[in-house]
Amino acid sequence: MSKSLRPNVRESFGLRTSSSFSLLPVQTCRSTGLPGQIQDKFTAPEPSLRTIAGTTSVSLLFFVGIGGAIGGRTRRKSTNERGLPDNSALLALAKTYLETQLRLYGSVELSRLLPRADKQTAACLVDEFRNAFLDLDWRPSSPLETSLTLTPVAAVYLRYSCDKSNPRSLDQQLRNCLEKAAQLGHWVPWDLVFADAAVSGTSAARRGYQMAKAAIEVESGRIGLVLIDEIGRAARDAIETLKLGRLMDNCGSRLVGCTDGFDSSHAHSKMMLSMFAMVHEHFVDQLRGKVRRGTDDAFRMGNNIRPPSFGYKLVPCLDAEGCPIVDTKGRVDVQKVVDDEHVEWVIKAFEMYVDGRKSPSKIAAFFNDHEVGGRKTWDGPNVTQLLTRRTYIGEEVEGMTRNCFDSESGKRTTIKVPESEWKRRDVPHLRIISDEMFEAAQARRRQCRDAHDTKLKNAPARTSVYSNLLIRPVCSCGTRLLIGRTGEHKSLFCPSAKDHKHKCQMGGYKSVRIIESCILDHVRSSLTPACEQEVLERANKFLADEIKKPVKDTKPLERTIKELKKKVALYLDKFEENPSEAAISRVNAYERTLKEREAELRDIQSRQLSTPVLLDAEAVSKALDQIRQLLNSDKEIAAPIIEKMVGQVVVSQTINAAKKRVWTAKFAINLIPVIAELTARSQCLNAPTWEYLHLSDWTLLTEAIVPLETVPPYVQIAPELLRLHRSGASIESLAATFKKTASVIRTILKFAQTGEKPQWEPKGKKRDRKKKGREKESDKVECKYLQFGELIAERRELGETFREIRNFIANEYGVKMSHPTAVRAYDHARPAAAIAAAASGRMPSRNSKNVLRPEQYDEIRRLLCLQPRVKYADIAAQVGCSAAAVSSEKRRMTAETNDEAKRADK
Ligand SMILES: [Zn+2]
Repeated sequence: MSKSLRPNVRESFGLRTSSSFSLLPVQTCRSTGLPGQIQDKFTAPEPSLRTIAGTTSVSLLFFVGIGGAIGGRTRRKSTNERGLPDNSALLALAKTYLETQLRLYGSVELSRLLPRADKQTAACLVDEFRNAFLDLDWRPSSPLETSLTLTPVAAVYLRYSCDKSNPRSLDQQLRNCLEKAAQLGHWVPWDLVFADAAVSGTSAARRGYQMAKAAIEVESGRIGLVLIDEIGRAARDAIETLKLGRLMDNCGSRLVGCTDGFDSSHAHSKMMLSMFAMVHEHFVDQLRGKVRRGTDDAFRMGNNIRPPSFGYKLVPCLDAEGCPIVDTKGRVDVQKVVDDEHVEWVIKAFEMYVDGRKSPSKIAAFFNDHEVGGRKTWDGPNVTQLLTRRTYIGEEVEGMTRNCFDSESGKRTTIKVPESEWKRRDVPHLRIISDEMFEAAQARRRQCRDAHDTKLKNAPARTSVYSNLLIRPVCSCGTRLLIGRTGEHKSLFCPSAKDHKHKCQMGGYKSVRIIESCILDHVRSSLTPACEQEVLERANKFLADEIKKPVKDTKPLERTIKELKKKVALYLDKFEENPSEAAISRVNAYERTLKEREAELRDIQSRQLSTPVLLDAEAVSKALDQIRQLLNSDKEIAAPIIEKMVGQVVVSQTINAAKKRVWTAKFAINLIPVIAELTARSQCLNAPTWEYLHLSDWTLLTEAIVPLETVPPYVQIAPELLRLHRSGASIESLAATFKKTASVIRTILKFAQTGEKPQWEPKGKKRDRKKKGREKESDKVECKYLQFGELIAERRELGETFREIRNFIANEYGVKMSHPTAVRAYDHARPAAAIAAAASGRMPSRNSKNVLRPEQYDEIRRLLCLQPRVKYADIAAQVGCSAAAVSSEKRRMTAETNDEAKRADK
């Protein structure tokens, strides 16, 4: 396993296999098999390489897991990898370690512990380091189990802060520390070298730092020395620095800074540490302040301090001659302008949110479908950000939030800054959205937020801000029905039914489609001209009465209010002199009455401001048209208004004689509030009148009880189909009349005659059928009648027979066609004849020369009545038609007499 791993390691490090260095198995570096000189000199119990080159406890499998990730440098570091120096930095670190240690201990006995300073060993050390860093269960191994007990051991911590500083500084720090350790007579084993790369010292949540602290704590007292380049490398947070100082004290370790000269063994070290801690924190604060001032100034000066947001782009500033302006540092000056490609999408997002009532997620999905801005990564929060961006109304804002940083956990939290502290600047040339649209979007955001606020009492219903259902009915037990099954067919059920809560006996599910279509169909069918007339008459009657009413004198009411106010003031004075329960209740009672009277007055005044006008028929029919349009519009728009119109829909269930559950919905249709809202929205002339009707609580309630059952179309047309067929209409003419294929008509007729439920093939499964070939064939036939319909009809009008036309098509187009197909094609192109035939029950007159004239039919009937037992062929010969025509006329006559007999029975 380990052998096979080697090439991988080498590859990922960019090392070539070369004969110049020995291909040692990885084990040599890890445990017993020490390379070269060390092995022959070493006699005493072999020092495990754990003490020198780190712990072996890390599973190799883990390394395999991350192996693939090492090669890609541009990849963003995962949370685990944060602070891990990259490969080249680690390799440099390992090489520096080996070289420096060999240089320092080359002649001393300790050097026996060192493997050779070649590339392979270095790569091995890199593995050790990385594995320990990434292993979240890493525990410091005890370095003191071996013969090294005699040598004091030191740990080293290295860090550089930002991505832009030099990663080489890690190995420079290491060299300083190793030299200092050697001076102080301490040995630094590789597994006590800890490092963090590109991590700020303001947070204590650094992997390398935490590992160092853990090692010191676990090895309490045995790590005699901890080396850092300077105190600021350990921490740039005063409290954390002091905590580290205390830890060192408790564990009896000595902390030494190589370049700043700090040494915890000195007499004044505690004072020094506090000062260093203060200085470093102060340094960071100053730096932060400078950066903040810099951005503030840049914002005030009108510079761009952020990349342009969606809808804008940066273009070079041009001088009078059209050349880009270059600043003193050689950079091209840029300015932010509106990006014409994105403008329509910004507007679209606002329109979808405000007018279309779509949710941010739906808008994001729409944006991804259209790859808006070349992105497919839009999500709800992105869109919400877009909808709140003030740049779109020509105002740039800076400092809306502030980051709060917890130095212990390293977590950042965003805090909202009060609006008064925001920094703003006007950028009218960047405006895309009107103030009204933006404000409407913000209002809708507030509404949506309220709908999700559980603490708010009068919060709007969630279904009214984002509708996934047109109607959300209530069970007769009072519980709101929930969506039980989603997917292709959503359905609703009562959640109380399971445990019979509120004595609910409802069982089963009802399809949302059925509920919605039944209720909406009922609403649609109730919007008749008669309804229009009724609204007009009754509303006008009410309005006429209102107009006739004398203007109410508000003076007495005003006087009462004045007196009440006086009384309240009087009792309040009395209460201050002599506080008592009775006085409080009296004051409260007066105040309540006062409020009521004031509301009454406001009501009267507001109604007197607008005088209603009588409605005319056109206004009413326009209003009802608006409702009809609404019923066909998007769910998001229609749902809240339908809710207003039908109020609460109560669904109840009964069991019928066949032990089948029968669902019914009960609701009341009230058109006035909806008309008031719709007319107000479209700024209709009659809007104030409707508003007046709405405010005066004038209603025109129609109670409705609707069975929630849909009758399949085939059941609906079956009786009619049967009647027509019985009276002689052919299958073909019925097919043309009902726009169905002949086979469907046959199936429905069979159902009508026998009551046998047809087995329709499920939709969408046709393609999965095994008989693909046959299916294709029938597709072709369908195409034929669509393709040649017009041609056949035209030639037929010229007097050609179907046979002639079929031959013509076969010769001209090379398409063979059967007689029924040709007939169907004709019926499709000229349906009038077939429809007429279906109604009369006679052969359709497909522009045929042979079709019988009405007087010929009369002749057949006369002959049939005269001699009921005669052969059809004889009559046919007499009249000059086919025997079939006589036979069908006979059938028709029988059907008619039957019908008459039935009517007589009734
Ligand atoms: Zn219920």
